[in-house]
Amino acid sequence: MLKDKDRIFVNLYGLQGADLASAKKRGDWNNTQELLGKERAWLIEQVKESGLRGRGGAGFSTGMKWSFMPRERIPGKPSYLVVNADESEPGTCKDREILRNEPHKLLEGALIAGYAMNAVAAYIYIRGEYYYEASAIQKAIDEAYKAGLLGKDACGSGYDFDIYLHRGAGAYICGEETAMLESLEGNKGQPRLKPPFPANAGLYGCPTTVNNVETIAVVPTILRRGAKWFTGLGKPNNTGTKIFSISGHVNNPCNVEEEMGITLHELINKHAGGVRGGWDNLLAVIPGGSSVPLLPKSICDSITMDFDSLREVKSGLGTAAVIVMDKSTDVIEAICRLSHFYMHESCGQCTPCREGTGWMWRVMQRLVKGEAEKHEIDDLLEVTTQIEGHTICALGDAAAWPIQGLIRHFREEIEARIEQHQKQRAA
Ligand code: SF4
Repeated sequence: MLKDKDRIFVNLYGLQGADLASAKKRGDWNNTQELLGKERAWLIEQVKESGLRGRGGAGFSTGMKWSFMPRERIPGKPSYLVVNADESEPGTCKDREILRNEPHKLLEGALIAGYAMNAVAAYIYIRGEYYYEASAIQKAIDEAYKAGLLGKDACGSGYDFDIYLHRGAGAYICGEETAMLESLEGNKGQPRLKPPFPANAGLYGCPTTVNNVETIAVVPTILRRGAKWFTGLGKPNNTGTKIFSISGHVNNPCNVEEEMGITLHELINKHAGGVRGGWDNLLAVIPGGSSVPLLPKSICDSITMDFDSLREVKSGLGTAAVIVMDKSTDVIEAICRLSHFYMHESCGQCTPCREGTGWMWRVMQRLVKGEAEKHEIDDLLEVTTQIEGHTICALGDAAAWPIQGLIRHFREEIEARIEQHQKQRAA
């Protein structure tokens, strides 16, 4: 269990102020000028050494991502940092707390990350529905400019850096990094084909790195306390702390910062008050936001919450949004509901996603009622593999994976429902 002295987000629950003076008391903006006096390569190396992996879902090495940016500024092509605050994955509500209660950690992190990548500015792209969070961030930006922490000669470092807040309009797909860049440019939020990757041709065709809110917000603490401190938490290759969002059938749904690699059992029991009706009443858990395959209780009994362990059981840590389902859940209907979500949010550019998500949802609706033939389960599985990996962005995978997880672990339930329906029809 994470010790209080190792907690990065000490004001996650907003018990203290989010203002600059309160943030400074918590250690934010302390010696920032000194950090901005370090070699850029040194800063990137520190982040690499810390083992920090992106907290937005993909889990790619943050330091590595930064190192793809050009070291020297290219004339006429300024570099940018884009902070992804378009938190929209069902079940995920961790960045919201940072934006509301720890906005200065994010701003300081954006400044340091921007400096390390020699960027001229950062754009924070926040989902439109986050009105209060946008207000909190804007207030913090204004405070930071007034105090000379941002803008010209940021923190007295001689480095100029601006931060702009941009509100989205509520499309889930704008959380995909290249769709986000399109949206920032004023276009329809539709993902771009890669390559080129944003580090080569991103915002306005300029070198750009897109990072999640939590990823950027932990950077100042890592640099202050050292990469070694961060690697001392969690597990090898899965270092540090992580904010988990625990929702669903638990007694106390919550967001909590914990060490990577904590067992799911401990996470739910210690922080969320346990499963409703006790651990034995657990049916399944979606461990990383709606797009990752669910896990049945037999796996939940011993699984640890980190990127590698969850990948081994064919699921993923994703955004670390833990959705708990007890035995009262109609698991087929729950996944059908997610299929509807992904169908609705498909941007429609690629055929497998545009047509496939609707097709899968329609079959899922019939499976919920049992109005299908058993061979259609395999037909459905086959279609998910035709979508997965065959689209421009990961929304196709996100639509396919929950269904694959359902069939992998709950095929018997689906078949039983079909049999039951057939019996009723025959009677
Ligand atoms: Fe759009 Fe879906 Fe293709 Fe992504 S996978 S680009 S959401 S159609």
